[in-house]
Amino acid sequence: MSLRFNAIGNISSETSHVPIPPSLKITGIFNENVFTVKTAREYLSDEGYKSLTTSIKGGKKIDRIVANQIANGIRAWAESKGVTHYTHWFQPLTGTTAEKHDSFFTLKSDGTAIEEFDGAALIQQEPDASSFPSGGLRATFEARGYTAWDPSSPAFIIEIGKGKTLCIPTIFVSYTGESLDYKAPLLKALEALNKSAVDVCNYFDKNVTKVTATLGWEQEYFVIDAGLANARPDLIQCGRTVFGAAPAKGQQLEDHYFGSIPERVYAFMRDYEQEAYKLGIPLRTRHNEVAPAQFECAPIFEEVNIAVDHNTLLMDVMSRVAKRHNLLVLLHEKPFAGINGSGKHNNWSMATDTGVNLLAPGKTPKTNLMFLTFFVNIIKAVHDHADIMRAAIASAQNDHRLGANEAPPAIISVFVGQYLAKVLSDVETRVSTKFDEQDEAILKLDLHRSIPELMLDNTDRNRTSPFAFTGNKFEFRAVGSSANCAISMTVLNTIMADTLKKFKIDVDALIEKGDKKEIAIMQVIQRYIVESKKVLFEGDGYSDEWHHEAERRGLPNVKTTPLALDAMVTDKAKKLFEHNGVYTHSELEARHEIELEKYIKKVQIEARIMGDLAINHILPAAIKYQNTLLKNVNGLKAAGLPESAYKSQLGILKDVSEHIQVIHTKVHAMVEERKIVNNIESSRTKAIAYESQIKAVYFDEIRYHVDKLEHLVDDDIWTLPKYREMLFLR
Ligand code: ADP
Ligand code: MG
Repeated sequence: MSLRFNAIGNISSETSHVPIPPSLKITGIFNENVFTVKTAREYLSDEGYKSLTTSIKGGKKIDRIVANQIANGIRAWAESKGVTHYTHWFQPLTGTTAEKHDSFFTLKSDGTAIEEFDGAALIQQEPDASSFPSGGLRATFEARGYTAWDPSSPAFIIEIGKGKTLCIPTIFVSYTGESLDYKAPLLKALEALNKSAVDVCNYFDKNVTKVTATLGWEQEYFVIDAGLANARPDLIQCGRTVFGAAPAKGQQLEDHYFGSIPERVYAFMRDYEQEAYKLGIPLRTRHNEVAPAQFECAPIFEEVNIAVDHNTLLMDVMSRVAKRHNLLVLLHEKPFAGINGSGKHNNWSMATDTGVNLLAPGKTPKTNLMFLTFFVNIIKAVHDHADIMRAAIASAQNDHRLGANEAPPAIISVFVGQYLAKVLSDVETRVSTKFDEQDEAILKLDLHRSIPELMLDNTDRNRTSPFAFTGNKFEFRAVGSSANCAISMTVLNTIMADTLKKFKIDVDALIEKGDKKEIAIMQVIQRYIVESKKVLFEGDGYSDEWHHEAERRGLPNVKTTPLALDAMVTDKAKKLFEHNGVYTHSELEARHEIELEKYIKKVQIEARIMGDLAINHILPAAIKYQNTLLKNVNGLKAAGLPESAYKSQLGILKDVSEHIQVIHTKVHAMVEERKIVNNIESSRTKAIAYESQIKAVYFDEIRYHVDKLEHLVDDDIWTLPKYREMLFLR
């Protein structure tokens, strides 16, 4: 029996179902496996505790002796929970997380066995960096890199099976100091934002000394039976189906969204949520998404740095817990053609250490002016750097989603809602050079009350915008489901830092010329609105009209990753990232190179899988069916029946034969084309060729014929699980 029918049989016999885990009180397990500040108080000396907390707050360095004390405290805590190993946990540019486990166990010089974890091991490790992508930053003879402890993200314990490992969040840098991961530049971007935002806040409130960016992500994913997935080499190797005919019922009835969660998936959700709570990930919501077998979870927002760690950690936890339930989690942006793909909305805002959300509309003219300042600066930042935001969300996977009329288009625009659009246009037309009643009137608007109310009203919510204001935060909706949020967060916080820095220079210049502070601020805000209003769009982002309109406005619409990535290495990008201390020129070049290579490899793997499935699964089944038809036709003919008796069979035979011929020819041609493309030296040219000469030319064409065969060939001999099975059986 084929894997496919075996898997279907297993689902019906329910042997694969794991019971729903017992209901535990969340507050009872929350942070159980995290070395929180509270735990630190318990396990550390006064000196160690003080040093750790100052370093969390202000990034002050921890000296070696104190580091030893802290390491001992962390080990004592971890051992009390049965931990034997530790690892530096980091986020290399492969896109997954990395860990290399070492045990606390060691031998003294006289052979005595002891358990040990010292400050040096806590602060720095040297993983073999040569097998991580570096984009040419490290020549092979100098393949050394090290991981360095990031005290601002707490240590945690990960449970794999019965084993428990202490994980120390770290950044990953080369010996010469270049960042080799997603976290190091993110921390720099957050620091840059902090500086510029505090400066601007001080126009309104001198008490602000720190601004923290906040992130609440919404993670979409698919869950399917692991047995069925195992019979799909494309899902296992690429995370998406390269073939598969549309099922009779897809998402057209729209009956899955917010419907009741299937019991088997519910058991899985409860299970991974409990793991997440133990790790301090504050999950809050879970629900079905639009497509069948698609779901979403979202936590309460946190500081960006922590939220990023929690998202990468959760993706890992989900994948592992799914195995316990014989399920497979698909984090790919587009696992199934013809139904929605998955995104990861990044809800983003900024908060002051005085407790103010800088994107929450104000109650008084003064707070309104502060809100308007930050609000308009974001619009300006997105306008000026839309190309870099586009590059931040570019990947082979997300190309299937952006602009496919179900996700935000590749055109970056900003949605602010009718009410604020009106406020902006009022400011634009009415602000005068002498702060008068008109200006006062705008600032006296009760934004605080009106905006949240309007936002709650669904008519004023735009689901088709890539970057939407949703009442007290912006939602970057174009981010892909499998992406590391650090990439988009590094970009967003850097462009905001840069824009605010310029804003301060512009305002100060007017103040120096003798303008009153409020007047100066209003003038600059007005100018920024004029300069950036073409990025504002309130309409349907999925519509054709918008594509035309965007073109007329001169907004970039870069549809493919190899070209979108160009924005990372323009002079503008280099200046931006260098001036804000986020990336050096060579780091940007390296990242550009790595992203291009990733793209090439992903498309190459998909092309290979397509060839493999076509030749080893599809054609054998089709030929078998051809033979059945042939035998039938010949038999009827031999029995002396007229052609009318086997006319239909002949028709099917002809169709099947034609599809076989096209598939075989195209697969062969694609292989030949790959040989040519593989010889291209430059990564950029090669990536473009993989897109335009392989993917664009062959993928849809081959798929078309394979999917036709799926409709023609005897179901009994079709080896690949079908969409209706993967999406609806559980
Ligand atoms: P939806 O957008 O689906 O209506 P919510 O508005 O409840 O959902 O929030 C979605 C996400 O936005 C949640 O993760 C939430 O914690 C986050 N969020 C809310 N306020 C902020 C903020 N100030 N900064 C960052 N994220 C926020
Ligand atoms: Mg949302």
